This record gives sequence, C-alpha cells and structure tokens, in this order.
Amino acid sequence: MKRVNEIDLNNKKVLIRCDFNVPIKDGVILDDTRIVKSLETIKYVLKYASNVIIISHLGRIKTYEDKMKNSLGIVCERLSNLLSEKVKFCTYEEDINSCINNNKIIMLENTRFFDLDNNKESGADDELTKFYASLADIYVFDAFGVSHREAASTMVSKYLPSAAGFLVCNEIDKLSYLFNPDRPFTIIFGGSKVSDKIGIISKLIDKSDSIIVVGAMAYTFLKAKGIDVGNSLVEDEYVPYCLDLIRKYGDKIILPIDIYEADNINSTDKTLVDINNITKMGLDIGPKTVDLIKDNIIKNKCIFVNGPAGVYENSTFEYGTKELFKILENIDAKVIVGGGDSVSAALKYSSENKFYHISTGGGAALEFLEGRDLPAIKNIGE
Ligand code: AMP
Repeated sequence: MKRVNEIDLNNKKVLIRCDFNVPIKDGVILDDTRIVKSLETIKYVLKYASNVIIISHLGRIKTYEDKMKNSLGIVCERLSNLLSEKVKFCTYEEDINSCINNNKIIMLENTRFFDLDNNKESGADDELTKFYASLADIYVFDAFGVSHREAASTMVSKYLPSAAGFLVCNEIDKLSYLFNPDRPFTIIFGGSKVSDKIGIISKLIDKSDSIIVVGAMAYTFLKAKGIDVGNSLVEDEYVPYCLDLIRKYGDKIILPIDIYEADNINSTDKTLVDINNITKMGLDIGPKTVDLIKDNIIKNKCIFVNGPAGVYENSTFEYGTKELFKILENIDAKVIVGGGDSVSAALKYSSENKFYHISTGGGAALEFLEGRDLPAIKNIGE
C-alpha cells in the first residue's frame, strides 16, 4: 500500500476520498472528530497539489427527503474553518471542472446523492467511478470507515495512480499490531452478539493469553456451561459454538462471576446476584467480576477491547463499562479499542489520548482484523 507521502503530488489535481459521515442534528454538527482527523492528509496534499477535490458520503440516501437533510454544505463550512482556508462547495449541477480550475480546494456534494439514480454510488457503478477519476490526476483514499465497502467513490484507485492518506495508514499500522502483539495479550469481548464476533474470535484467539467475555455475549457462553441465565439475551444457535470454545480454550476464557440483573434494559433499579442465582435479565457485570478482570489484565502488555460490558447507555447499567475503562486508562499496556459500541463507550468514560489506539473504523476495523481484504484499500498504489 503506497502512502500519501510516497507519491508525487507536485502540481497535480488530487481527489481525496474522506469519511465525513458526521452526526448532524437540526443543522448542527454534533461531533466533528472525523473532519479533524482528516486535516493531516488534506493539509499535506494542499502543500504540493495544484488543486484538491474532496469527496465523501453522508448518511443514507433512499428518498428525496433524505437528500434534503444530508447536504455536505455544512461540513464544507466546518472544514473551511478548521483549515482557515476557503473550501469552495460544489454541487453536481455546477460546472465541476471550472469549479476545480478556479479554486485551490473544493468539496463536492454528498456522493450518495447518486444512490437516487439506481443506487450508483453504493452499488459501485463503474461509470460513476470513472467520472470521479476524470476529475483528477491522483486519488488519495483516507476514508478508513468505508474501506470495507465497494462504492463508486471508494474504488477510484482502479483508474488513477493512488495512495492511502495518513488516517488510513495510522489505522492499518496500529490495528496490525494486534497480529503480533506483545504478550501477555488479552481480548475483552462485550456488546450484544456472539454471532458478530466469530470471525475475529477465530483470528485472534490463538494469539491471546486470555479472552474475557462480558456484555450480553457472556450469557451465551454461561448457558453453554449449563448455567441458568434467566431472561438474559442468549443466541441459542451459538451455544454449541461457545461450548466448543470453552472445551478447547477453557483456561483462557474468563466469564462474569457476578452480575446486575433487572426486569428489562430500561429499568432504573437493579439487583446484584451471583452467576448461579440469575432469575431476571443480566444487564451489567458486578464488582467481583470487575476485580477478576483487573487481576487478569494488570500485568498485560496488550489489550484489545471490543464491546461494552453492559447496557451502558442506561446509567443504571454503566458501572461495569465505566470501571473497565477506568482500569484500562491507568494500565501500563497498549490498549486498542475498536468495533461496535466500544469506541463510543471509551470516549464517554475516558479520552482518546489515554489509549494506544481508538479505531474510527467500526465494521472496517473488524473486517481488517478478521483478515479479510478491504476492497477500497486492496489496490491502493498498485
Ligand atoms: P456491539 O454493537 O456489539 O458493541 O453491542 C453494543 C450493545 O450491546 C450496546 O447497545 C449495549 O447496550 C448492548 N449490551 C451490552 N451488554 C448487554 C446485556 N447484558 N444485555 C443486553 N444488551 C447488552
């Protein structure tokens, strides 16, 4: 994979595919992290290129109403402010080539507007990919969050010399560390479903010294061990899979020993019970489990966290997730947080600079760690 600082950008028109899919409510950007993270690459390209063209998707565009709500105009304004440089916003109705030629840096409208025309963007329409390629001399891909998706705007490396931006390089470098981590290495799996994690469990289990399973996932494992889990969330069809893992890796797998249970996820009260006395729905881990986890990871060199320990969105059940991140931010180990809800949980209870890496990748990070090819990155710089 060629990096953006390994390709000649001098006096070239450079198309950068960013991931500006930021949360927006009532015309206000709620979190501009993705825009801020793209600045390093954009500033670097601006130093050398003659013209810079930025493209991104925003939201899902299925109807005309979606289109009205998801213009990138407001993102373009924020980018201009962050760069302290005017970024010209260009819709598809304008003469795009003259827009490019008359401005140092432009941002095109939401790529997914083309989804209203036979799903051309999300369906990776080749003519649309060629159209993007026709606008520039070089393609820089910096949208790690969509690198697992084949879309018209993520596949432009088919038709232009290309390189990966700094954000993508950083994700790949940091996540790759998990393929050969310093030991002891522990993985903490939480969140809702065993079925979502099978690929990653099989890829990383042999490299790890222990696997801690919390969140709803734990109840499918506990059921496999013959424990009555009451009304807790269980994926019955995965009980045999969990039983297999327990038989094969028994000593490595650490499960909760006490939990907080309640009638449902919206409850405002909870009861602490031992794992053998569950009668309701398990929604968080208890203090003995937190201590057990702490004892296990305290001397680790690397920890990968994938998923929260409980229904942390409800403050009644945030205890375990909050405690876990408190332990992790003070531990002398490389902590990598990635996938699912673990990133929002980490940022809710801690801050990014406390960890070795917080992946912005979501699904892309998990597919990369499962060892799958990421189509948007596969041919970069070939
Ligand atoms: P994931 O996207 O796989 O990381 O799953 C995150 C979701 O799992 C969050 O919305 C949590 O509320 C939910 N979750 C965590 N623990 C439990 C639990 N014990 N029971 C039900 N849902 C849970």
